[in-house]
Amino acid sequence: MNFEKIFAHNDIWIAEKLSVDKEYFNKLSEGQNPEVLYIGCSDSRVATEELLGAKPGEVFVHRNLANMVISTDFNVQSVITYAIEHLKVKQIIVCGHYYCGGVKEAMEAKDLGLLNPWLRNIRDVYRIHKDELNLIKNSEEKYNRLIELNVEEQCINLIKTAAVQKAIIESNLKVHGWIFDIRSGKLIDMKINFKKILKEIMEIYNLYEGKSLF
Ligand SMILES: [Zn+2]
Repeated sequence: MNFEKIFAHNDIWIAEKLSVDKEYFNKLSEGQNPEVLYIGCSDSRVATEELLGAKPGEVFVHRNLANMVISTDFNVQSVITYAIEHLKVKQIIVCGHYYCGGVKEAMEAKDLGLLNPWLRNIRDVYRIHKDELNLIKNSEEKYNRLIELNVEEQCINLIKTAAVQKAIIESNLKVHGWIFDIRSGKLIDMKINFKKILKEIMEIYNLYEGKSLF
């Protein structure tokens, strides 16, 4: 990657933006009011704004290895709290993608050093859904299904957090699970039925006794 090109491109980009609106950067500097928090994978092929057709200021973004929502990860938890309590986002998207290297590594039986504790969370998703996954004989189909189930579990992890539960009850926050298919370019809404999934587990995770989340 040519870094000189990056700075040259930056000058062109500034000129382009100002040619359309002289106040473009002044307006950007006034603040942000995104309606959406996007949690996705760090994979370089899954370019968030390009994928969503979003402009600067429209989406609050968090990316990590395999789009994980881990309760002890202060990074993702801080982003979620800031997005909900300060930016007042109305929607949270967890977006996974087929051909995810993080999920692939987690399916291998090997020691990956510092990656072990992170990928353990994906192995846990496998364990939870072992019966379904072990019925799939085709390894690529199994890999794809684990990617989908991982998105579903990360959405559930989101709903286990107090800030998200509070926003669902008080301001009708919505959580969505999506998959980006790198091979076709298609963005797929998994249309996760949270009501059905959470019905059985909310007796454990509901932090607002007496209040129904869905
Ligand atoms: Zn990935």
